[in-house]
Amino acid sequence: MDAFIKMDRKSGLVWRRQFLAGMSAAAALALLPRHSEAVDTLPATKQLGVALVGLGSYSTEHLGPALRMTKYCRLTGVVTGSQTKGQVWANSYGFSSRNIFSYDTMARIAGNPDIDVVYVVTPNGLHARHCIAAAKAGKHVICEKPMATSVAECDAIIAACRSAGVGLSVGYRLHFEPHHLEFARLAREQSFGPFMQMTGANGFRMGSPEAASSAWRVNKKLSGGGALMDMGVYVVQAACMTKAEACPVAVTARLGPVTRPALFSEVEGSVQWTMEFADAAVAKCVASYDQTVGHFRAEAARGWAELGQPFGYAEPTLTTSQGPVVFPEMNEQVAQLDGIADCLIRGSRSPAPGEMGRRDVAIMQAIYAAATSGKRMVVNT
Ligand code: NDP
Repeated sequence: MDAFIKMDRKSGLVWRRQFLAGMSAAAALALLPRHSEAVDTLPATKQLGVALVGLGSYSTEHLGPALRMTKYCRLTGVVTGSQTKGQVWANSYGFSSRNIFSYDTMARIAGNPDIDVVYVVTPNGLHARHCIAAAKAGKHVICEKPMATSVAECDAIIAACRSAGVGLSVGYRLHFEPHHLEFARLAREQSFGPFMQMTGANGFRMGSPEAASSAWRVNKKLSGGGALMDMGVYVVQAACMTKAEACPVAVTARLGPVTRPALFSEVEGSVQWTMEFADAAVAKCVASYDQTVGHFRAEAARGWAELGQPFGYAEPTLTTSQGPVVFPEMNEQVAQLDGIADCLIRGSRSPAPGEMGRRDVAIMQAIYAAATSGKRMVVNT
């Protein structure tokens, strides 16, 4: 059977072709992302204004372009250290110059009716400061991954958002990506039994330390850590997904060798770790700034599932012991931005809430503690 579900091709939100043999229409509908039906029935006129904080590579190459295609939100402002860059963005995206803010004038966003959501896309070590400033300005917050460099910072962000009564989401785009959503469904419904053995890796070979996007990533204060914080957070996320978002009870870990001292004097270039879950399931994981790698596989008693190129920008693949599961190409950032806008408009819970970002930072802190001490560390959440 070749069941085709199509709802909104332009937004990239929900359309998929499911090649699983014998699947009923009801089963096919069960595969829809949690927010898809809701998003498609929203009034087309309702659009939230989004301000991007930090106009670096992810904002420039992915989030800005996605905000030209979103249906339920659009770019209406920026926060940047460069007024000139801000003006280029204002001209290009068609918003007023009065919607360009600096990091020191973020409080003024409070009085700006064009901006509903502030999306923090600065180096990890600055997320807490910028998220808290956004919450204090009374705006909903989206914070890029990893949420912050410590659990204490995550707590401060969550508290600021609660106290301001605004929404908080982490920029986990894969929570809106159909192959990952299908993997999560297989885990949740235990289609093959509970997944018990997982392996995953994510990495790229980092270039020169002088490259703009590398500089803060190898600076401990700005990054909070190396390959684990940047690339490993995706593997931590995938492992928790296979256990229906359960947190591991304990971790063990080992840092890789310092392959390039000029780059990795403050942060790790690679790390291997194992996550142990309450039901004795185990995830063996790798994150690296030394090699380009990306895969994730989970095994259960009655079958397995495997994601190819699961964490980068290329379209992931999903294969299970029953065969390939194929979804047409989509834009993850468009789906994420519209999915979060949907939650905010409806007042429903984000699929990637602040508490999830905090959980992942707690796991990564335990991984660092395990790697440093050489001991098995219990994960305290
Ligand atoms: P870049 O280095 O390309 O951009 C960061 C931007 O932050 C800078 O251009 C600058 O913007 C601003 N900034 C403010 N203060 C500083 C500072 N002290 N040092 C450096 N930059 C500063 O980083 P990325 O865009 O690659 O990453 C930004 C965030 O997004 C990170 O948290 C990263 O983990 C996350 N990310 C998420 C991805 C995903 O797929 N979800 C993919 C890539 C990154 P300006 O010049 O406007 O002031």
